Amino acid sequence: MKQVIIVGGVAGGATAAAQLRRINPDINITIYEKGRDISFGNCGLPYNIGGEVSDRDKLVAATPATMAERDIVVKTHHEVRSVDSEGRKLLVKDLEEDREFEAAYDYLILSPGGAPRTIPALLDVPQAFVLHNLEDLDDIKAHIAEHDVNKVVVIGAGYIGLELIENFVRRGMDVTFIHRSEEVYRPLEDDLGNFFIEEMERQGVDVRLNTEIVEVDGNVATLSNGEQVDAPMIVAGIGILPRTEFLGGSGVALNDAGFICTDETGCTSADCVYALGDAIETFYQHVDRKTTVALAWGAHRMAYVIANQIGGDDDVKFEGLLGTNIIRFFDYDIATLGLQQNEVREYDHFIVDHKQKNKAGYMDGSVPIRVRIYVSTEDGRILRAAVVGTEGVDKRIDLLAAHIRLGGTAEDLVNIEVAYSPPYSSPKSVLNMLGYKTIEKMKKFK
Ligand code: FAD
Repeated sequence: MKQVIIVGGVAGGATAAAQLRRINPDINITIYEKGRDISFGNCGLPYNIGGEVSDRDKLVAATPATMAERDIVVKTHHEVRSVDSEGRKLLVKDLEEDREFEAAYDYLILSPGGAPRTIPALLDVPQAFVLHNLEDLDDIKAHIAEHDVNKVVVIGAGYIGLELIENFVRRGMDVTFIHRSEEVYRPLEDDLGNFFIEEMERQGVDVRLNTEIVEVDGNVATLSNGEQVDAPMIVAGIGILPRTEFLGGSGVALNDAGFICTDETGCTSADCVYALGDAIETFYQHVDRKTTVALAWGAHRMAYVIANQIGGDDDVKFEGLLGTNIIRFFDYDIATLGLQQNEVREYDHFIVDHKQKNKAGYMDGSVPIRVRIYVSTEDGRILRAAVVGTEGVDKRIDLLAAHIRLGGTAEDLVNIEVAYSPPYSSPKSVLNMLGYKTIEKMKKFK
């Protein structure tokens, strides 16, 4: 029987295993996971801190025991140390038994994800945490309980940092936010995100910008501007680095930033070695360009593709992604898709911006929603979009993603027939209006 080995047992790895088993009952599947847990909802971790996920155990989707019921072998606390793609074997370390052994594969699936980054000043600080997995969540909650902590310093202005701020506030804790610039949430245009700081202050967050922690002594953190803040707990959400060091010398090609290069089948440069998730370099759906996207959708889609490539229908291919994303920050919803701001500048484009109420303007409770699209002057393609509001953002970003996927241009937005009655939209929705504005602007380029 063919032997499939999977490295990493959370979003990408566990999903690939489950899909493969569903497609093909006659294949051996073994997952090596270096951590304690497998198959948990990373995305839900912040919401257990804030209480919206009241039952922490509901974050666990599968365990080694439930995987065993599906004839999938799971080895937790097992770290893959190196890969020999010529010899089709791995060196694995059993971290509990402190012993190494070799494991042979016919197919290898890599889903090692990313390692959370930190800053030098937080190394060896006992009250400094990251939130990347269930163990981190348990450690944070244990620290709060054991030391009766009601104050937390959050660093990082990406989506995890923002979710941490919101959820610690919801938990009733005093939050200090430290950020080394004034630019909060880089995926969004500064002028669209000018509410972030105001909203933090409205929520009672102590905001310290243009500074960073340089030293922590006991429960006091010293900042680069000389100020000191009380820091009985510090949580960093400052991004990830691909966990691919173990692939050195493996024959699996990495890009300059250490991400695993993959094609539309999920295959790497090495025969029978596939990869997915946060650690891969993949490609955009709407423009011919490589990208990396550390979000769950791509991992889940690629899991299905790879499972089919190995055990089912090899016509199933990955068709790229848009990096469609959304976050909630207190009352606000923020979503973007497509090229990053620095990338879109390389394309000839114009911007169409429109703000209107999310439902019929005469309805009590209607609120503004703002959508910005970046339109290719060459062919009217939507290269990038950003949506901000307090209601209805998810609907607009998903519609835009579907529209782009099906080849719709910015001018075609006028033809999206929206479901209208006053509590939901307008007969000319915000997306239709963007289409009408585009048609006017596009005349210059025809
Ligand atoms: P992971 O799920 O991180 O799994 C990788 C696993 O591989 C890890 O458990 C690791 O221990 C293991 N591993 C690594 N190296 C080895 C090795 N050498 N040997 C054995 N095991 C190894 N995405 C969204 O789309 N929306 C969200 O709202 C969202 N919120 C998030 C909130 C948080 C707090 C976090 C941490 C992530 C969030 N994400 C979100 C991102 C999403 O969780 C990731 O995109 C997804 O988990 C990536 O899956 P993966 O399999 O690549 O990596």
